[in-house]
This record gives sequence, C-alpha cells and structure tokens, in this order.
Amino acid sequence: MNEYDSDRIKNALDAEPTDDPKKADIIIINTCAIREKADQKAFSSLGKFKSLKANNPDKIVGIAGCVAQLYGEKLLKRMPHIDFVLGPRAIPKLPDIISNIEREKRRTVETSYDIEELFEIEPYHKEGKVTGFVSVQQGCNKRCTYCIVPQVRGNEVNRPLKDILTETTNLVNKGVREITFIGQTVNSWKENGYKFGDLIRAAGEVENLERIRFTTSYPRDITKRMIDAMKDVPQVCHHLHLPVQSGSDKVLSMMKRTYTRQWYTDTISRLKDAVPDLSVSTDIIIGFPGETGQDFEETMSLMKEVEFESSYSFKFSPRPGTAAAEYSAEEMVDPQIASARLSELQAFQKDITEKKNLSRVGLIEKVLVEGESRNDPNFLSGRTDHNRILNFKGTKELVGKTVKVKVSEGLLNSLRGELVV
Ligand code: SF4
Repeated sequence: MNEYDSDRIKNALDAEPTDDPKKADIIIINTCAIREKADQKAFSSLGKFKSLKANNPDKIVGIAGCVAQLYGEKLLKRMPHIDFVLGPRAIPKLPDIISNIEREKRRTVETSYDIEELFEIEPYHKEGKVTGFVSVQQGCNKRCTYCIVPQVRGNEVNRPLKDILTETTNLVNKGVREITFIGQTVNSWKENGYKFGDLIRAAGEVENLERIRFTTSYPRDITKRMIDAMKDVPQVCHHLHLPVQSGSDKVLSMMKRTYTRQWYTDTISRLKDAVPDLSVSTDIIIGFPGETGQDFEETMSLMKEVEFESSYSFKFSPRPGTAAAEYSAEEMVDPQIASARLSELQAFQKDITEKKNLSRVGLIEKVLVEGESRNDPNFLSGRTDHNRILNFKGTKELVGKTVKVKVSEGLLNSLRGELVV
C-alpha cells in the first residue's frame, strides 16, 4: 500500500523522480506506522535531510503517509526543517500544497479524511514494468485491537468497479501483464451490489491481462462467490495471502479477529477444495499481551497443520491509540520470551518453505519474466503462479513474456531453473 502511495505521490507532482536528494527540489519521506520500528525509521530518515535543507532553504522537505497522519501538527514542532505533513488520504492535495509553499513559504499540515476524489491520482508507472498495483479500496472497517490502520487511513471506502477496470486496462495497454488489486481487506470490496468475486470475474475479461493477484484478504470475508471466481477465472494466480495472526482462539478473540482457528482452517479447506494447488501465506503476531506458552503452542500447531508457503511474523508492537496498547505492563509478554517464541516459529517456517521449494525441483513452472535478476545480470527473474521467485538464464527480450522454466534448484527464498524451449 505504501509503495502504491509513493508511486501516486510521484504522479501527483508530475515531476521527474530522482533517488539523489542533492539533485531533488522536493524531498518526501513516505512513512509506515504499522510498528514502532517503522515509525522510528521515518524520523531518522527525515533527520538526514536537516543539513541539506539548512544549506538549500529553497528545497521543500515533507513527510507523507501514516506517521504523518498519526502525529500531524506535532511533526512541524519536532522537525523545524520540514515544510509539510501529508496524510495518506490527502495525496490528491499535494500539487496545491507544493505551490502554496513555493508562493507563500507557509508550512502546511494536511491530514483530513474527507477528500472528494480519493482515487483521483493514479500511480506513476515505470516504463517497461510488467506488473502493477491497482487500489480498489482505502481504509478499513475492522477494528483489530492491535492495529493502527483504521486510525491513520480512515474507514473503508471502495472504488467504483468502472474506475478499477479503466486503470487496469490502461496499465495493460502500457505493457503490464500482471495486476495486483490492493486494499486493506481487499476481499470486502463491494459496490452497488457487486462483490469481490464479481470484480475478479470482470478483471478476467480485460484483454491481454495474463495474471490477477490481490492482497490483503481478510479471512472472514472469504465467500463462496469469491472462491467460485478464483476457481473459474483462469488468470487468477494460485496463491493467497491470508493473515491468521494467532492459532489460539483466546488470543484471536482478544485481537477481535472475528474468527476462530477452526473457522480459519475450514476456510482453507474450502479454498483448497476449489483450487487444489493453492499456496497460502500468512501473517503472525507473536507476544500479543496475555499470550501464554499454551497459546504459543497452539500457534505452532496451526503452523504445523497448515504448512504455510511463507509467513511474515513479528513481535507485538503497541501502537498509540489502539486498544491493545492499553494493556498493563504485567500483561505484556516478556520481550525475551517473545523473541524466543518468534525465533522458534521462524525457524520452523524456514524449514517448511525450503521443503516446499525443494518439492518443485523437476517441475515445469510458468513464469512471467519481470526483469534481470538483482544478483546476477546473466539471470532473468520472475514469479511462478504460486508467487515463488524463479531465476534462470535468459536474455532481456523475454521480459514481459510468460515462459516455461524447469526447476533445477529449490533455495530458501527462491528457485533456480532452466528455460524450456
Ligand atoms: S483488518 Fe487488517 S487493516 Fe483492518 S484493522 Fe485488522 S489488521 Fe488492521
């Protein structure tokens, strides 16, 4: 979501992006507030531009995103070298903010939620890129007790189907072959009687669109209509990211996740009945306040039962203004215990991911070639239907094409293979 917003910021400015702060007329740090660490990273990144701004007072320096929304006005006081603070919903107002600063040299805070044309600014698209994001929704109506998103991104607003399809078609016309629909709870999307399954079916009709992905799905919003669409629309990739967060019903209830462990595993069974080779990844929070050794064991047993393809796991991080930040110090899990649990879970996941990658050796995978491999320019890189990175020897003319690759090696984070001609 942040990456998408950064690309919208680039487009809103209609300016040539540069990675070199010295050359830039405008420097914007787009921030994430999901965990304390990300939040702190934003401040240290901004601090780096203090002397640059002092030596070049005409440079405009701003902070955007969820940290901007969370602290608003306070940031101007804390950081005298910044010119503006911009919440994630206010990106369409950026051009006006910049011209006001240039004209009046007045520092600005724009964190309102009531922006009329929320989806007006589409993201910057780098020429030649074959994958693209399309936002279908902003904000979230759920109230998970640990999560700051509804506070900083506001309530759920769904984008009209027509506009989603127009942006998708525009991207496909620019050479994009794989679209990822994004929303905080993407599968709760709805508009005028249309539900998420209908959106998938409509996207399946877009000419020359080869692959459809979507993230992040909320377990409780998985419906029969959605599962049927995933089964029927051939462009839908067989990978689903479905955050579970914990294997303990007690913890799930404290998190207000609105489902039980049984409900979650039954949902995975329903999905796999429809799409037998579906790969599933997840998110886990370790050390939620009150998590006991028994609760953690239940999370581990869920990991063993489902065998997720991969998982993003983090230690609980109390976020200001959320219900879970109100627990007393005694209810917080000892950081050392939480770290030990996290290491155990991550070591287990590493083995499973490696095992699953090894199980692909000898198979022929379809890969959408995205570009040269980051580590070796002799190799091309792309993703399989199941969202695994697959690197293989090939020449640049294959970028943007879907090719067949025979897997020869299964590594921890990727696969290697040989082009099948
Ligand atoms: S559904 Fe996701 S974004 Fe919404 S409150 Fe829960 S964790 Fe946050």
